[in-house]
Amino acid sequence: MDQQPKKIKKPRGKARLLEGKCIACGARCQASCPSDAIEMNAKEEPIISAEKCISCQKCVKICPGSAIEMYFTPEELKILEELAAQGGAAVPAEEEEKKQEKTTDSGIAAWKGVWVFVEQFEGHAHEVSWELLGKGRILANDLGVELAAFVLGDNVRHLADEAFCWGADKVYLMDSPLLKHYRTTSYLKGCVDIINKYKPEIVLMGATGLGRDLAGAVATDLKTGLTADCTSLTIDTKMRLLEQTRPAFGGNIMATILTETHRPQMASVRPHVMPKPEYKAGAKGQLIEEPFTMKEEDIPTKVIEIIHTASEGSVNIAGAKILVSGGRGMLSLDNFKMLERFAEMIGGVVAGSRCAVDEGWVKHDRQVGQTGKTVHSKLYIACGISGAIQHLVGMQDSDFIIAINKDKTAPIFDVAHLGIVGDVMEVIPSLIEKFKQTNAHPTE
Ligand SMILES: Cc1cc2nc3c(=O)[nH]c(=O)nc-3n(C[C@H](O)[C@H](O)[C@H](O)COP(=O)(O)OP(=O)(O)OC[C@H]3O[C@@H](n4cnc5c(N)ncnc54)[C@H](O)[C@@H]3O)c2cc1C
Repeated sequence: MDQQPKKIKKPRGKARLLEGKCIACGARCQASCPSDAIEMNAKEEPIISAEKCISCQKCVKICPGSAIEMYFTPEELKILEELAAQGGAAVPAEEEEKKQEKTTDSGIAAWKGVWVFVEQFEGHAHEVSWELLGKGRILANDLGVELAAFVLGDNVRHLADEAFCWGADKVYLMDSPLLKHYRTTSYLKGCVDIINKYKPEIVLMGATGLGRDLAGAVATDLKTGLTADCTSLTIDTKMRLLEQTRPAFGGNIMATILTETHRPQMASVRPHVMPKPEYKAGAKGQLIEEPFTMKEEDIPTKVIEIIHTASEGSVNIAGAKILVSGGRGMLSLDNFKMLERFAEMIGGVVAGSRCAVDEGWVKHDRQVGQTGKTVHSKLYIACGISGAIQHLVGMQDSDFIIAINKDKTAPIFDVAHLGIVGDVMEVIPSLIEKFKQTNAHPTE
């Protein structure tokens, strides 16, 4: 009888901490460990028990500081070398499962294409939808797949035509009187039905009030991941994975998040973070109409009246072309009034850092940054703002940034195109004088 060659078991190693690399992120490794192999010491660093470690690598993958590695004994390393020489005969079970999942029809390989949700209110599309089609086009080209928009609403066929002009190859349209007003239950059902039917690998939505509500509900229903408020989206072309980057840990690091084993990969992006693509008038594509199958009696919420709440004087700073933004360096409300005069003079709008909002010098709806608005102005003048990362993520994509700060080491100068090291109380009045004399407009 033929003797089967003995299959060598591939060593999987044990997790261990790399000296001096832990960033004390808050025990994410411990939370991820399925075998209770990790305890935290007084410095919030992990102590990993080799006996309890089951080599699952979850802690290695989750660590934002790349501070944990898999360790192999010299004997195990020798086996690995032998296996490599034989062409890598043994494959760990986990990798094998993943490979199978990716290649079966019910697995992630069946999901194809990049989709953008077209958010609309009373038949008018939110600008973020077109901005996302611009980014979606780049992602679709990188993956070699189609770019599609999906539109839900009542009498919104014209938005399909618009989506083609903004670059969509296909539009999936669900048009029904029951979708006239946004209600989570009805939009959730519509989105989930259409996504499950056509299986896009990537779904992008605007991180607006509506988008935040809908994206979270859809991702939960589809049992997939969602990265909210992304500031950058790219493709790992080798693995065909969406790299979803956003600020994490209070903005102190930028985290790139992957949805490796579930589909679709879902991400939301705030308005004005991505530039709009070129509008191609008259562009055409394929329109696919889908029925909406819910009945009114199955939707628990009813819209009785829509009340517009924007108060007098409220401005959407996210759409402003020129922003004069003040920080704690302005020192008082009176000094802030100087910024208002300057802004008015140059056709701009006043905004502020969180400190300025906390001081009560500017309203919260004008706060720029991670917990405020993301702006993409043509001109951003930062006055007495230090440039904390939480502020920078909200304004660094502005076309031209001028920073005025008396501290030449302030981080705001790292993103500024023009830096003025000086006292803002002197610089702004002298700029006001200069503009009075020349009567020039700063964006001309
Ligand atoms: C979870 C989280 C979310 C946050 N979200 C936001 C957010 O959305 N937006 C935001 O802005 N912040 C946010 N912050 C706060 C952020 O970390 C900073 O504290 C804040 O941005 C600092 O505001 P500032 O630059 O006005 O004040 P400071 O950091 O105090 O800077 C004041 C600057 O003014 C300069 N200055 C002082 N006097 C003068 C003068 N006479 N002339 C010129 N320069 C002068 C100083 O040199 C200094 O650089 C967040 C923080 C956390 C933890």
